[in-house]
Amino acid sequence: MNLFEKEELIRQAAEDFENQSPEKLLAWAVERFPNITLACSFGAEDVVLVDMLQKISPQTDIFYLDTNVHFKETYETRDRLQQHYGVEFVQVLPKLTLEEQAEQYGPELWKKDPNQCCNLRKVDPLTDILKNYDAWITGIRRDQAPTRANAKKVEYDVKFGLVKFNPLASWTNDDVWNYIRSNGVIYNPLHDNHYPSIGCEHCTRQVMPGEDPRAGRWAGFQKTECGLHK
Ligand code: SF4
Repeated sequence: MNLFEKEELIRQAAEDFENQSPEKLLAWAVERFPNITLACSFGAEDVVLVDMLQKISPQTDIFYLDTNVHFKETYETRDRLQQHYGVEFVQVLPKLTLEEQAEQYGPELWKKDPNQCCNLRKVDPLTDILKNYDAWITGIRRDQAPTRANAKKVEYDVKFGLVKFNPLASWTNDDVWNYIRSNGVIYNPLHDNHYPSIGCEHCTRQVMPGEDPRAGRWAGFQKTECGLHK
């Protein structure tokens, strides 16, 4: 398929699936792009997609970016999901260990330069893993942040050079939690303790009532995104 044909397929699919359920889009995505993967951070949206994918296409690869500094509850959620579904998520590690990063860039890089830390521990490893696939699935929603407001359900990811599916793009936070509760999906218990959005432990704080749900990410910095969804 040439680039023009691919762009037309993506445009048409985005239009066709805008008002369809995430499950219908996922079923089409795995059939049309068998070499596809789901990126999972073990947040609420991603556990919904894990559950849907296990019902639709349990053989599809699911990977997570292991920065080595996730909350212990996040690692426990990973373990519980793996045990429940009988799957093994693909662990994607940074090239540098935390010790090597500290030697080369100084200690606690996340306090000094979180963009560089995210590049080393998230963006570069993501770039590498996505080279193995034709398409990826993410849990981003339009109402999570202004940077995500224009996300389409199907789009071409120029940054990483593959097709990107955002099946939950039009969902609200309530839609996510209604699915989790009605399907008994395993989720990160930090969500019950004022952590609506969960990233690395060093860069995520609790969010108090009335604050923006993503206010707990990189608090004190202008930064609002890892650099994975631009
Ligand atoms: S979220 Fe924080 S600790 Fe994690 S990779 Fe980014 S800057 Fe580093």
